[in-house]
Amino acid sequence: MNKKLFLAQPRGFCAGVHRAIATVERALALFGQPIYVRHEIVHNTHVVDSLKQKGAIFIEELDDVPNGSTLIFSAHGVSKAIESEAKERGFRIFDATCPLVTKVHMEVSMMRQEDREIIVIGHSGHPEVEGTMGQSDTGMYLVESVEDIPELDVNNPDRLAYVSQTTLSVADTTDVIAALKAHFPAIIEPPKADICYATTNRQNAVKQLAEIATLIIVVGSPSSSNSNRLREVAERKGVTAYMVDNASEIDPQWLEGHTAIGVTAGASAPEILVQEVIEMLQKHGVTAIEELEGITENLSFPVPRGLGRR
Ligand code: SF4
Repeated sequence: MNKKLFLAQPRGFCAGVHRAIATVERALALFGQPIYVRHEIVHNTHVVDSLKQKGAIFIEELDDVPNGSTLIFSAHGVSKAIESEAKERGFRIFDATCPLVTKVHMEVSMMRQEDREIIVIGHSGHPEVEGTMGQSDTGMYLVESVEDIPELDVNNPDRLAYVSQTTLSVADTTDVIAALKAHFPAIIEPPKADICYATTNRQNAVKQLAEIATLIIVVGSPSSSNSNRLREVAERKGVTAYMVDNASEIDPQWLEGHTAIGVTAGASAPEILVQEVIEMLQKHGVTAIEELEGITENLSFPVPRGLGRR
């Protein structure tokens, strides 16, 4: 049975991921190896493995970084406590936090200065959420779902604000925000939505893909929040969906009975992995490929100061 492959547009790397990877590569080129990176620079196995081969060392605890080292913060951002500790230790620091995550940090700081407590909508344990929650020592609450809201024990319901993780499901977050507003009518929202353009565009593109394809393969690593959300969005549209780190994880049996297959990739997944998936699918019955029309993204962020090439 001939199969046709449809490719989502946009897919793959976003501006924040490009910048984060370039930050590590520029630091390696300028200062030589090793370069220490706190947490995976972006949540993708292929990216992390290739940077390890070039001399990056990924750590979680600053105690694992020798004095005098160069240290990079990952795209997900860090808490104020980590930032201060790193500065005190005297590392040469480059901050690869995505500017759109930094925007959320600045919202938190500003609203805490206005003496508002902040509700962070996000996934517990995700490094971005830890970094955002860690922008203030007090007055921060985490909400993962609508069910968490009645449990919140805030000091003053009239002095509340919310922010969100940048890589959430747009639909789920809309529900949580509506429930927050119903429970705390005086809560104020960020000046501009925190879910980033890349997350929104990729979720819209996968919805478009789900109108045509009956099977969708999302290229992304298990730890990638936005890739997981793409798989969920596809499933909610009634499509069979799998997330794979690379082509070798695709089981040819998944393809049986499907003549229209969709492929997309999370914001941290490199295009080379998508191309390998395409090659694999061509070996298993795909005879035609169509790139769907979608938004062309042309946002880019310069690497941090001190790394040249701005
Ligand atoms: S997914 Fe959004 S917030 Fe995350 S790195 Fe990309 S642009 Fe930045």
